Amino acid sequence: MDSISYERAADLNGAVRSAQQPGSMYIGGGTNLLDLMKGGVSRPVRLIDITRIGGLDTVATLPDGGLRIGALVRNSDAANHALIRERYPLLSQAFLAGASPQLRNMATVGGNLMQRTRCPYFYDTAFAQCNKRLPGSGCAAIGGLNRTHAIFGASPQCIAVNPSDMNVALAALDAVVRVSGPNGERAVPIGEFHRLPGDRPEIDTTLQMAELITAVDLPPPLFSEHAHYLKVRDRASYAFALVSVAAALQMDGNTVKHARIALGGVAHKPWRASTAEQMLTGHPLSDANLREAASAAVSDARPQRDNAFKVELAQRAIVRAVHQAAGRGGDFA
Ligand SMILES: Cc1cc2nc3c(=O)[nH]c(=O)nc-3n(C[C@H](O)[C@H](O)[C@H](O)COP(=O)(O)OP(=O)(O)OC[C@H]3O[C@@H](n4cnc5c(N)ncnc54)[C@H](O)[C@@H]3O)c2cc1C
Repeated sequence: MDSISYERAADLNGAVRSAQQPGSMYIGGGTNLLDLMKGGVSRPVRLIDITRIGGLDTVATLPDGGLRIGALVRNSDAANHALIRERYPLLSQAFLAGASPQLRNMATVGGNLMQRTRCPYFYDTAFAQCNKRLPGSGCAAIGGLNRTHAIFGASPQCIAVNPSDMNVALAALDAVVRVSGPNGERAVPIGEFHRLPGDRPEIDTTLQMAELITAVDLPPPLFSEHAHYLKVRDRASYAFALVSVAAALQMDGNTVKHARIALGGVAHKPWRASTAEQMLTGHPLSDANLREAASAAVSDARPQRDNAFKVELAQRAIVRAVHQAAGRGGDFA
């Protein structure tokens, strides 16, 4: 039996100090970490409970008109917060698409950013090969069952995907992750927070040793009127995304002034479809140019044996999500 020590941090500095001891991990809602510990995937020797640290569970407006969401805000509270619902409906929708009400009541914003992949070979320690779990052991998903895996940015070491819905919306909104650690505070743009697997797939993010996420900052709201989060999954609820799309538009009549499109379920990190965004920006939104942009978004997809369907699915999902964001219902897929 492994012995684990548990410590409840009273403040930020105390948490960061404790976390510098080898084998330490922070615990928020515990909805991911405790599962991983029970399965023998994560083996911390010291758990630092951060949920009692004051000041990290609030949502506050920023002087520039943006919003700061504390790392300890529960997913349910964030989804239903009046300012998030009104100004960042994309984010509220993404929260509500994730997990179940009970899980969202426990899960924190910081923990959601850090949740680990749902690759079955990572979760099941009966498989000897998983570079993410056991660096250097190989990847059982390559050549294995890889229907749910990456079509973008994978490496010969790992084809796992980031499972979060929230992260996809944050990527589309250009959020900034605020962290505090032994060397002070820093702000990390969301696009630089999660990493591609490369030859170090065991490392999911650019967070440094003992750094604690304190908040997520959202820029002033540009997309409160035209935003849609579309999640395509095997079951209607309580399932991770096969493909998801966070679409946000600023419209001037029928012309797209600004477009943001991020994809989930397709890569080791939320995947911005920048080329598609550029192709839409400055042009009238038509079905034809939207389909062209969606096609460009998947031009560098590299599917595995079982997941070529995601290439077509991603295109259709982009078309549908952008139309929905623009306020056009109907069957566009
Ligand atoms: C059955 C099930 C279904 C789910 N379905 C979905 C889904 O459809 N979509 C989806 O997006 N998610 C889904 N989830 C995942 C869920 O969203 C995450 O488990 C949750 O967001 C993690 O938050 P937490 O606070 O519980 O994290 P914890 O489990 O406490 O921690 C997770 C990780 O984050 C680290 N951590 C926590 N807080 C901080 C911090 N402030 N700074 C630095 N590190 C920190 C921990 O050390 C740990 O490594 C599902 C989970 C389950 C169990």
